Amino acid sequence: MEIVVATTNKHKLREIRKILKLPVTSNQLPVRETGKTFEENAIKKAKAVVKKTGKITIADDSGLMVDCLRGKPGVKSARFATPPTPDNLCNKLLRVMGEKNGRRSAKFVCAIAVVYPCGKVRTVKGICPGKIIHEMRGKRGFGYDPVFVPRGYRKTFAEMKPSAKNRISHRAKALRKLKNVL
Ligand code: IMP
Repeated sequence: MEIVVATTNKHKLREIRKILKLPVTSNQLPVRETGKTFEENAIKKAKAVVKKTGKITIADDSGLMVDCLRGKPGVKSARFATPPTPDNLCNKLLRVMGEKNGRRSAKFVCAIAVVYPCGKVRTVKGICPGKIIHEMRGKRGFGYDPVFVPRGYRKTFAEMKPSAKNRISHRAKALRKLKNVL
């Protein structure tokens, strides 16, 4: 079974390949992520690729929800700073949270949609709770990894080995559920 992953993010693709252990190719079309939920955006991305390729496609939409920012940056996580380098994203988040001076609790959320050529749609979701620390630590990963410490751990995602992140991340949890759906 060949599956297409609707992404051009090489970090995501690597994580997805490692966890799914299925042959996947990648193909993404420009889609405006206008949905109010992660699920809506994931479905939109997957549907666009199914239409083009006629193959089973999975797409993820993920982001960081910070409690003291009432769930922001949420579905706008990738567009929170421009260009969206880890430095820019993390520094802006630290600045905005510093102004609030509130709780540091946060969670990463990942919704994955699988869309079949017949039109059938299924979604799964994974959540990784944790907190935002006060400075950037670590060089691995992408996005907000340097400021996110998952609950029960001391290291940030950017300090962990990919294999450790892949055991506990929001994407890993969603992908494990997806395995049962495929
Ligand atoms: P999208 O799912 O490609 O629309 O973008 C999600 C954005 O959320 C990414 O560009 C990152 O900024 C952030 N994000 C999602 N998952 C992770 C993760 O595992 N680590 C760090 N940042 C993430």
